[in-house]
Amino acid sequence: METRKRLYSVIISAIVLLGFLATSLIGYFVARDSMTDRLQQEMLPLTSDNIYSEIQRDLLQPVLISSLMANDTFVVDWVAGGEQTPLKMQRYLAQIQQQYQTITAFFISEQTRNYYHPEGIIKQVSETEPADAWYFRARDMRQAYEINIDQDTADRDRLSIFVNYQVKNKHNELVGVIGVGLSMQSVAELIESYQQRYGREIYFVNRQGEVMLQSSQYSDELHIQNKDGIDKLFTRILTSPSASVSFKAKDGSVIYLNSRLVPEFDWYLIVEQINDPASERVETALLINILVSLLISIIVLIIAHFALRGYQGRLETMASRDKLTGVTSRQVFDSLFQQALASCRRKNQPLSVALLDIDHFKQVNDSHGHRQGDYVLQRVAHIIQLHIRDSDVVCRWGGEEFLLMLTNCSQQDAVERVEALRKAIEAWLFELDQTRITVTVSAGVAQHRDDEVMSALIERADKALYQAKDAGRNCLRAAA
Ligand code: GH3
Ligand code: MG
Ligand code: MG
Repeated sequence: METRKRLYSVIISAIVLLGFLATSLIGYFVARDSMTDRLQQEMLPLTSDNIYSEIQRDLLQPVLISSLMANDTFVVDWVAGGEQTPLKMQRYLAQIQQQYQTITAFFISEQTRNYYHPEGIIKQVSETEPADAWYFRARDMRQAYEINIDQDTADRDRLSIFVNYQVKNKHNELVGVIGVGLSMQSVAELIESYQQRYGREIYFVNRQGEVMLQSSQYSDELHIQNKDGIDKLFTRILTSPSASVSFKAKDGSVIYLNSRLVPEFDWYLIVEQINDPASERVETALLINILVSLLISIIVLIIAHFALRGYQGRLETMASRDKLTGVTSRQVFDSLFQQALASCRRKNQPLSVALLDIDHFKQVNDSHGHRQGDYVLQRVAHIIQLHIRDSDVVCRWGGEEFLLMLTNCSQQDAVERVEALRKAIEAWLFELDQTRITVTVSAGVAQHRDDEVMSALIERADKALYQAKDAGRNCLRAAA
């Protein structure tokens, strides 16, 4: 019984605990997935979009200036006039540079291949010189202008953004390439500020994956394919205009990476986030969930334990006690008798039983009703209990029959004690609703004999009881 009870408790708490655990874990994974989705689908692309639109805004002005220069009749006329006074072009470029705060302004003439600069003619571009390749590309391109990131011809250490604009005459013939250069500084500052604001790594890589531009505090591998954990993913980044990937670094941290091609630079803008910042919150929530589940499970376990114990206790008394009179029920008498018998044998003490039957009880029911009959039964049981010892047992044997087990009691003593009980019942005034009545009992007494089974002993007592009934009732007989 105990182990069964324990088993039920364990099963109940296991179900509760598993249920809570399952819902907590499902909640956790759903929240984590949606966080990751949000980060990958919305937050990183948004950062990327913002940076891109700022870059475009920053580039808009130099493109406009270059367009203005390309359409300036002065330039076309001056070239048509045979590039007579280089100083005029030099001054023109210097004025543009000063007025618009660009780091440089330039013009390359197609007919002379001269590179004009605010400080004069720097050089002549040549098709065989790799550093001049940009001019021939810009000259032959189909669109009117390009944005190119390159080393400045006038200052070879500096990386600059150039707007190369084609200059054409009335006949739509190419005259040269004109434009301005601006420092990469503003883009670098942009990266820096975004990095600080959003706690994200931001950098640019070219189509080969080489890191071209990065903030000052970022000092990672100079090639995207060297990134810890990126493995083969870099090919995906470098072959599609935009990509969202995540990968695990050796230290276990997860890196979310978003890339987009910036066509003006022909570079990829990369936005990275190491470890989802929201995942920590989700994990704390999971921990709290599990703790709460544990606590509730423990409470349920305790409640279940006491409820089971209470029910069981009630079931046990229900089975062992007679409902009407509260005395021992017939079901448990056998085991009580065996215990008492063993104890008496050990102590070498006599054990006797007495069977009591209320006389003409049917008449009580008939004349006063069944409910009043019940009351009489309860009172009789009560009187019996007053007359027996703690070690004795009174049991409701039948409808109006009580079996008494008297320990350490010989037949002689039993006769005396039951006789006293009989007299007490006879003398008792039962107060019914309308009236007062008296009832009598008849009794048969028998002492246990060596090796006698319980049923034989009770049968002898029953026989004695019949003798008492035969003798006219309200008396007692001892078994032979
Ligand atoms: P006797 O002197 O021969 O024992 O006569 P009796 O009327 O007591 O015996 P009998 O066996 O003829 O009737 C017993 C009656 O006890 C019949 C039954 O209705 C009544 N009885 C049995 N159990 C209960 C009970 O729980 N409540 C009530 N009110 N009556 C009961
Ligand atoms: Mg009877
Ligand atoms: Mg009777």
